[in-house]
Amino acid sequence: MPSDTQVREALSQVNYPGFSRDIVSFGLVKDISVNGDDVTVELSLATRDPKIPKLILEGAQAALNAIPQIGDAKVKFDIKDPPHTAPQPDAAGGNDSVGQSSIPGVKNIIAIASGKGGVGKSTVASNLAVALSQSPGQPSVGLCDCDLYGPSIALMFGADDQPLANEQNQIIPIIRHGLKIMSMGLLLDDTSAAIVRGPMATRYTQQFLRQVAWDHLDYLILDLPPGTGDIQLTIVQTVALTGAIIVTTPQEVALIDARKAVSMFGKVNVPILGIVENMSYFECDRGTRYDIFGKGGGAKEAERLGVPLVGQIPIDIATRERADQGTPVATLPQDESSASKAFHQIAARVRGAIPKMS
Ligand code: ADP
Repeated sequence: MPSDTQVREALSQVNYPGFSRDIVSFGLVKDISVNGDDVTVELSLATRDPKIPKLILEGAQAALNAIPQIGDAKVKFDIKDPPHTAPQPDAAGGNDSVGQSSIPGVKNIIAIASGKGGVGKSTVASNLAVALSQSPGQPSVGLCDCDLYGPSIALMFGADDQPLANEQNQIIPIIRHGLKIMSMGLLLDDTSAAIVRGPMATRYTQQFLRQVAWDHLDYLILDLPPGTGDIQLTIVQTVALTGAIIVTTPQEVALIDARKAVSMFGKVNVPILGIVENMSYFECDRGTRYDIFGKGGGAKEAERLGVPLVGQIPIDIATRERADQGTPVATLPQDESSASKAFHQIAARVRGAIPKMS
């Protein structure tokens, strides 16, 4: 008679189509029942693509049949429609994309991603959060740094104090510039961050996001770790994202990686709200623009991918300095800083792309 563990082990040989992660670690196994030698497995999926359950069925069936002494192996599916593949005007309450569950009290969750590090993802995440919170109606905004190994949001806001917990044992976010800020790295010292790897890191991320006392938020900005690996995948699969923003620089090398990020979100039906081209140009004191990294790369790529280019941010000394001082450039009046203006424009476009909230 096959054991539960044997069944689970067999299913963990089956990868989610198009991914290097297996269906067990993705949390798709809803139920396993063993009756004598017969096994019934129930898998829960959120997809509109009929090829996905078909491919998983073939893989799971073959894996189960390979268990010694197995009798009849059945695979059942509980398939939910991912609520939308693009923001829908009639979407109730905003936040219920392909991800399996939402975060209580949080209306819209926006992931900021990049294919590679150093393109300014955290800079965009923090300034977009500031600009959103200052937009009409003054929505309530949270910002979470999901990078376990290189948290920079805490630095950008000078928020490196150890967070406290409330009576329900939830972590209380730190308030800076009217934003609720939390960084996964704040709870780990350097040594523990180094040992939290692989599946442990992904589980930690999932739990973490739900253990923060966000209370009520109109927008939660998630600063994803750079790249398109397992942690990013887990977040985009298991948190109900409203949409994603991809940050790139105009060079071809960054654009190639940005394409990978766009394709990752496409696979899990998370809409791309837009591409932000950072370090687009340098503007000297006399107002002349220099295209340091080439011109039009982000625009061309956005057009090729069929997603909007929601903004171009200049390379700007104040942006870097203010980030280092803990006061993001978007806190400056828009007529004093073209970078601040660019971030406020992005915030307006992002709100426009989420019909329910605008
Ligand atoms: P990532 O999150 O993609 O690794 P960061 O946002 O941490 O990148 O940015 C890397 C460095 O570049 C930081 O020192 C940041 O202040 C600086 N930086 C990012 N965008 C700009 C910009 N538009 N102008 C000037 N400096 C920038």
